Amino acid sequence: QAKSAGRNTVCFFDPEMQAVATANATLAADLRQAWRERQFQIDYQPQVGPDGRMTGVEALLRWQHLQRGVVPPEQFIPIAEETSLIIPIGRWVLDTACAQLKAWENQPGRDHLSIAVNVSVRQFRHPEFVDEVMSAIKESGIAPHKLKLELTESLLADGIEVTVAKMGNLKAMGVALSLDDFGMGYSSLSYLKRLPLDQLKIDREFVKDVLTDANDAAIARTIIGLAQSLHLEVIAEGVETEAQRDFLARQGCHAFQGYLFCRPLPLQRLEAFIDAQLSGQLEIQSGTI
Ligand code: C2E
Ligand code: MG
Ligand code: MG
Ligand code: MG
Repeated sequence: QAKSAGRNTVCFFDPEMQAVATANATLAADLRQAWRERQFQIDYQPQVGPDGRMTGVEALLRWQHLQRGVVPPEQFIPIAEETSLIIPIGRWVLDTACAQLKAWENQPGRDHLSIAVNVSVRQFRHPEFVDEVMSAIKESGIAPHKLKLELTESLLADGIEVTVAKMGNLKAMGVALSLDDFGMGYSSLSYLKRLPLDQLKIDREFVKDVLTDANDAAIARTIIGLAQSLHLEVIAEGVETEAQRDFLARQGCHAFQGYLFCRPLPLQRLEAFIDAQLSGQLEIQSGTI
């Protein structure tokens, strides 16, 4: 049967693989329905500066599945990519983030905040992506620099010229560009210096054991040094302890995101968090600067 199915057909001989494929097909059908019924929401996780004050948030997509509960993005984003549903869903995240920025623009204590939006490769590759970002900015009327797009090194698979050109178009609009999960990919340093970036984001994989694993510490230190010599901002994700934060700060990283400061929160709870921080009810995690 495998032979007659032809060369370009994927065949499953392994029952376990078959089970995964079936589960993914079910998830894909559910995802399509979820998009039609708008079962998505965005949580926001604070990003803080050296004094522990919020500078912005990262928008993190959540799928509230009717039976399964919350499905983690690591499970459904790959399926959204395969099915191209990431295109309309990603557009919705972008529009929602821009509308939120616009709302905060007129609210004291919130008007300085930026929003970082994750962009998957499939989205970035889409021929209309740059136009979509442009119209999201125009329609909302936000100051473009408050929107930060988080890209990943896997973009470079499309070739450096195409990637640099597209990123250049986005930069020209005034949006900020961050390289997410930095260190996990395989981009060469000569590529990195050509990318019109504003920020490198240290992946939480390296932050996790930064105090106990000499290799992770060396990687973190290298990324921070790299950012400094390329005049890029550097932010660490997944910071859970004061000791991690202090170590990174000593190496020269002064922007952080992680459970130490705040978990990703639904909008209302995030706004309560901002208000509490403003009125000084929250102890600010400042530490050694
Ligand atoms: P990411 O962009 O690297 O986001 C950071 C992830 O780390 C988030 O996971 C966040 O909840 C988690 N995190 C933050 N602080 C801590 C911490 O202190 N400890 C630990 N253990 N984890 C922490 P989340 O929300 O599950 O998202 C996973 C990934 O899904 C994201 O990784 C991003 O690649 C993707 N994603 C999320 N939302 C979107 C979206 O709107 N569009 C696209 N294309 N991808 C998205
Ligand atoms: Mg991200
Ligand atoms: Mg990340
Ligand atoms: Mg990550």
